[in-house]
Amino acid sequence: MPSRTSRAPTLVVPAGRDKALARHHPWIFPGAVAQLHGEAAAGDTVVVRSAAGKFLAHASWHPDAHIRARVWSFDEADTIDDAFFARRIARAAERRRALAPATDACRLVFGESDGLAGVVADRYGAVVVCQLLTAGAQRWRAPIAAALAALDGVETVLERSESDNLAREGVEARRGVLHGPERSTVTIREAAWRFEVDLAAGHKTGFYLDQRDARRAVESLAADRRVLNVFGYTGSFSVAALSGGASSVSTVDSSAPALRLAAANCSLNGFAPPPASFVTADAFSHLRRLRSGDERFGLIIVDPPKLAAHQGQVARASRAYKDANLQACHLLEDGGRLVTFSCSAAIGPELFQKIVFGAASDAGRELQIVGRLDQPSDHPVLLSFPESHYLCGLVCEAV
Ligand code: SAH
Repeated sequence: MPSRTSRAPTLVVPAGRDKALARHHPWIFPGAVAQLHGEAAAGDTVVVRSAAGKFLAHASWHPDAHIRARVWSFDEADTIDDAFFARRIARAAERRRALAPATDACRLVFGESDGLAGVVADRYGAVVVCQLLTAGAQRWRAPIAAALAALDGVETVLERSESDNLAREGVEARRGVLHGPERSTVTIREAAWRFEVDLAAGHKTGFYLDQRDARRAVESLAADRRVLNVFGYTGSFSVAALSGGASSVSTVDSSAPALRLAAANCSLNGFAPPPASFVTADAFSHLRRLRSGDERFGLIIVDPPKLAAHQGQVARASRAYKDANLQACHLLEDGGRLVTFSCSAAIGPELFQKIVFGAASDAGRELQIVGRLDQPSDHPVLLSFPESHYLCGLVCEAV
């Protein structure tokens, strides 16, 4: 009897190049590919073996991409089929169950961290929005959609596969309805708040679920403070600050549609102008303009978009992070708090802390770190895959 894995094409890893795989790192680079026995196109499943023939993994193959293979499973007994995706998705959803009392929105599937390389799925009430970001993930679109649709309470599954990575994988951006009726907006519940999510045009899959824990932190820091929310997008931090008793909140973003959504979210939660105000402006110039005036703030939130997509952009991004934080430091009252983030995986927590220190030092301000913020539990970091860590935040106080 042939073994279950014998018919799949086999990728052989050269001797001495299997250490990362043995430690369950799920990416295989060209240098770790000695040979491919059999025919495999982009997205096809291959069995990965050591030079000595030992089973290492089941993976999806890509003949041209920088990451030649992405592991689906390290368990030889697994078969990569529809049922495999159903099991992995059900398990990922089960792991998020503890979040349900607090919110009806969470990241259900976080790629490699959930053993599903290239698959992201976010739940917004009865709607799931998924991103299939690799050839391998797109190959299994139908069973992935079916497994998401089968989860309790899910009515609609949408696809929004739009990312810079798609071109590198040689697959096309895709959006559309995979299951159920089309939806373009949905209102989600998080703690006592409601947020409207733009499923069609919003960033990522629609909402920054990864800042859930940070919203609670901002709420707890905001009482009686004048708040400046820079890079405010849907205003989720503005709602958190207002509900924490901020005396005023100014939300700044370069996107007018984002600010319309921010204003809608403030009023959805019972907050209207004043004390909420909205400024459409480039954040860097707006911060400079504010510096020349008299207004100072008791809480400033700086949450820029991903400024370094890869290592080559780290130097330029560091300057931009520093500039935003430098201007913010100038605008802090004594005793004021700065809540500042990087969501660039290429900028680790140590470098980010150095950048913020450089900014404070240039502004002539002494800052204490009084808290650290990170990815919430539905964006878990796999120890064997540190690349899954991308978000870091510092809560600093001007002393
Ligand atoms: N804090 C937000 C997420 C921020 S995403 C939340 O919790 O929802 C980053 C935001 O920065 C986007 O809304 C984008 O429109 C905005 N942005 C990007 N470049 C900008 C710039 N130069 N000036 C102002 N806003 C900018």
